[in-house]
Amino acid sequence: MNNLILLGPPGCGKGTQSKILVQNKNYFQISTGDLLRQSVSSGSEQGKNIKKIMEKGELVPDSMVIGMILDVFEKEKKKNFIFDGFPRNINQAEQLTKSMNENKMNIDFVIFINVSLDLLEQRINKRNQESDKSNIRKDDNVKTLLKRIEVYKNMTYPLLDYYRKQEILWEIDGMQSIENVSKKIYEIIEN
Ligand code: AMP
Repeated sequence: MNNLILLGPPGCGKGTQSKILVQNKNYFQISTGDLLRQSVSSGSEQGKNIKKIMEKGELVPDSMVIGMILDVFEKEKKKNFIFDGFPRNINQAEQLTKSMNENKMNIDFVIFINVSLDLLEQRINKRNQESDKSNIRKDDNVKTLLKRIEVYKNMTYPLLDYYRKQEILWEIDGMQSIENVSKKIYEIIEN
């Protein structure tokens, strides 16, 4: 059993790599972005509030996101988890450690997919062009992207030091091909 966190700026390929791991290895992906988008499409009052926050590129309140993670833990016990887009700040990381310990689990690897912010912008634009017009992620416009990058630098980036101190942080150059990034991830988790 092992659990891993994929960390990196929005658009670095965390979602793509998570899906590859789910297909080829025995992992269960927890993407807070996907869970939040499900809540938005439910049309509930909470979903409407979440939608506004996501469209601004800000972080949804910790209590909401952590609640979603705990629900998944309840339902999906004894899985190998990949956390994709969570944690995004120190408080979320601390809460994650606490609830994992309570469930006698721990984080084995934190993999930082490092990409240049310029490349990131190109990828997000490409993803927008490729997606079906009706399915364009509203949070991917350039203004929101800039905000998300700022939030990433201020809130998420400090997690690198947090996990480096715990000696579970690994860094991968995310400028390589998707296949090469996957290969590097396998090397880390299978070692
Ligand atoms: P993502 O799909 O991971 O890129 O997330 C899209 C948006 O969902 C983010 O810009 C945030 O508004 C929100 N979000 C996703 N994960 C989190 C999280 N762990 N904490 C707070 N907000 C989140």
